Amino acid sequence: MTIYSGPVFDMARRQFGVIADYLEIPEAERDWLLQPKRAIAVSCPVRRDDGGVSVFQGYRVQHHLALGPTKGGTRFSASLDIGEVAALAVWMSWKCALAGLPYGGAKGGVAVDPYTLSRRELEGVSRRYMQEMIPFVGPQVDVMAPDMGTNEQVMAWFMDTYSMYRGSAVPEIVTGKPVELGGTLGRREATGRGLAFLVGRAMERMGIAPGGATAIVQGYGNVGGVAARALSERGLRVLGVSDHTAAYHDPGGLDIDAIDRHVAKTGFLAGYSTQSLIDPEALLTMPCDVLAPCAVERVVTHVNADQIKCRILAEGANGPTTPGADLVFEQRKTEMFVIPDILCNAGGVIVSYFEWVQDLQQYYWGESEVAEKLHLALERSLHNVETRAKRDGLSNRTAAMAIGVEKVRKAMQLRGLFP
Ligand code: NAD
Repeated sequence: MTIYSGPVFDMARRQFGVIADYLEIPEAERDWLLQPKRAIAVSCPVRRDDGGVSVFQGYRVQHHLALGPTKGGTRFSASLDIGEVAALAVWMSWKCALAGLPYGGAKGGVAVDPYTLSRRELEGVSRRYMQEMIPFVGPQVDVMAPDMGTNEQVMAWFMDTYSMYRGSAVPEIVTGKPVELGGTLGRREATGRGLAFLVGRAMERMGIAPGGATAIVQGYGNVGGVAARALSERGLRVLGVSDHTAAYHDPGGLDIDAIDRHVAKTGFLAGYSTQSLIDPEALLTMPCDVLAPCAVERVVTHVNADQIKCRILAEGANGPTTPGADLVFEQRKTEMFVIPDILCNAGGVIVSYFEWVQDLQQYYWGESEVAEKLHLALERSLHNVETRAKRDGLSNRTAAMAIGVEKVRKAMQLRGLFP
């Protein structure tokens, strides 16, 4: 019996099963590794602008505590459930371990559509959620960060709520805060820029020159928006972009400056152009060198995998590719370079770790120092993944996850079963 169900947790479980088989982990040990340590569900009543009260369900799942505090984002999304949160927490564990960070994985969020809230209501949801979480989090226990539907401002409200309770400023309770409150330079851009850095390395492996290379990016938020800009700064032509309101494609290349100006003004892609509109589903299967899904889970599936035409799949989102699609890509290993999510989007948690370290020391780094350390960390992870994949004839995803699972397993074995 488990409380974790639904398609996203099933996917995390299936992926783990592949790794556990490959590592020959005994059945008896598998639940110990996979089942989250703690799950918290809370109700968040919030006063609406019309005077009424709405109650939103909030969650936090902490996967394992073997290596340090847990770490993970906070998602505000209407369809959020505990299975999705648990899957994201499990993936965070493998991601942190692969990057060599002293964290277990966590994730949390509120089942609310943030786009339907006024700013005052969003602040109400954010503060109430953090207030409910206070007994379960802390700088040495569980450190939150932004994820889909949350941003620097929400982290500022989290930090303030926790600090008011403690009676002093506690910047190290969250990462992804505004720089003015102890956030680090380069955190907002870290995930998208990290993705572009790894794409650069993958292009070298595939013999693709940046000039003339093309990219398509799904999702135009913190990860996708920054990734599109960073890829275009590296000389790639961005042919297509989408968010939950619209999708655009132009074979001659989209004007990223103009799109960014439009999004800065309106918040969304809708309304940018009437000429380059395209069906969002069709965007994923348009020809390009680099396809970067940077929005939601399970968009590349066994149904569309054989129509995906990119040469590099750069997974900015968590869990965009299902195990069914992986089986299809397994046959195309030589013609397609997959940068799996736990490597591709690790820039976010790596720079979050830098932020936490700076907050604990009250000693702050310059942006170039952050970028240099980020590149070193990603380079090391990529090297470890490629070496393992080559040695054992594995896909990049299996290699990346195997390294993560092995590290967590080793830590749990060394600490032993208590009592
Ligand atoms: P965000 O809220 O800033 O942006 C999400 C974007 O996806 C928005 O543009 C939204 O309109 C779009 N979107 C939502 N549903 C869509 C759909 N069905 N089709 C196309 N676009 C859709 O969130 P984010 O922080 O950019 O996170 C995006 C993904 O990256 C998530 O999977 C998240 O878990 C992952 N991630 C984020 C970070 C980070 O640092 N923020 C780090 C690692 C991984």
